[in-house]
Amino acid sequence: MKDYYDILGVDRDATQDEIKKRFRKLARETHPDANPDDPTAESRFRDVAEAYEVLSDTQKRARFDRGEEFGADLFSNFGGLDEILSQFFGGAGGFGFGRAAAPSHRGQDMAVAMDLDLAEAAFGVSREVSFRAPASCSVCSGSGAAEGHTPIPCGTCGGHGQVQTTRNTFLGSMMTVTECPTCRGRGSIVEEPCPNCAGEGRTNEQVELTVEIPPGVDDGTRLRLTGRGGAGAYGSPPGDLYVQVKLLPDPRFERVGSDLHHLVHLGVAEATLGTIVRVPLIEGDDVDVDIPPGTQPGTVFRIGRKGVPHLRRRGRGDLLVNVDVAIPDSLSAEQEDALRTYAELRGEQPLPPRKRRKRR
Ligand SMILES: [Zn+2]
Ligand SMILES: [Zn+2]
Repeated sequence: MKDYYDILGVDRDATQDEIKKRFRKLARETHPDANPDDPTAESRFRDVAEAYEVLSDTQKRARFDRGEEFGADLFSNFGGLDEILSQFFGGAGGFGFGRAAAPSHRGQDMAVAMDLDLAEAAFGVSREVSFRAPASCSVCSGSGAAEGHTPIPCGTCGGHGQVQTTRNTFLGSMMTVTECPTCRGRGSIVEEPCPNCAGEGRTNEQVELTVEIPPGVDDGTRLRLTGRGGAGAYGSPPGDLYVQVKLLPDPRFERVGSDLHHLVHLGVAEATLGTIVRVPLIEGDDVDVDIPPGTQPGTVFRIGRKGVPHLRRRGRGDLLVNVDVAIPDSLSAEQEDALRTYAELRGEQPLPPRKRRKRR
């Protein structure tokens, strides 16, 4: 047997006021309209309504307290859930959840791909995009009505675009809200449809749009521009536009998140004795980096805040200068002599000179 106190989450000595408050809260939370993606919402909602129906009625509550079973018969003369609900939520279908207009008429989501170079992705850019999509009809401005006519409110649904139907369940009557069959959810009727769009209020057009790319986007970033997709039919809301970012490779940098890596190749003498290297920045300038004597291959020098700005938050990544020491793979006779002298002084034991091949 169901424990109605448990379902409502109230004590057994709860006052009518507490029960009413608790029901109001739970009914809102579990109402199927508020949980369109949750298939269990309706049964939870029914339990809550059933618990309230019993506990809010002092006679039924007393019977329940005595341990009497409540079967379907309890609800056969049930005044109707909708009545209880309208008492709480102001009736007429909406329940205060503001159900959107018929989703079938919402405009299409559109997607465009955008190639950006590293600096554009880092600092943001304003780009023109062009794509074919349903757009608001230029003749009727989206109203769907022919010139000289205006849409009139639908009589069936009173302009709401939705109608309320009541269906009987074992609990009593349950109310559902569906798209108005007369106006197909649009809330108004066009007597003389616009000849350009056949009354839909939209036509396929080449849409030109300026898109502001924020700083910090990366390869694969998908930006959503709410309401910039295809126009909806019959005045329904437009879809969204998705911009898919593709980052063009930059030979100077490898990007890892917000950090940039730049590789420098030092000669043996430079790494050994120290040097100064010019390192490019995405801003466009170069910067001098001091390489101290005795720098080992694989050493990384970090230049703070010269990487890519973070997407939609403050700060930016670092620029990491990775040191590679290039070992010569061929030497002139003079260079080899110098290196052999060096090896001797260091006590190194390189292979003896081979017979000199003719250099090309
Ligand atoms: Zn039109
Ligand atoms: Zn209607």
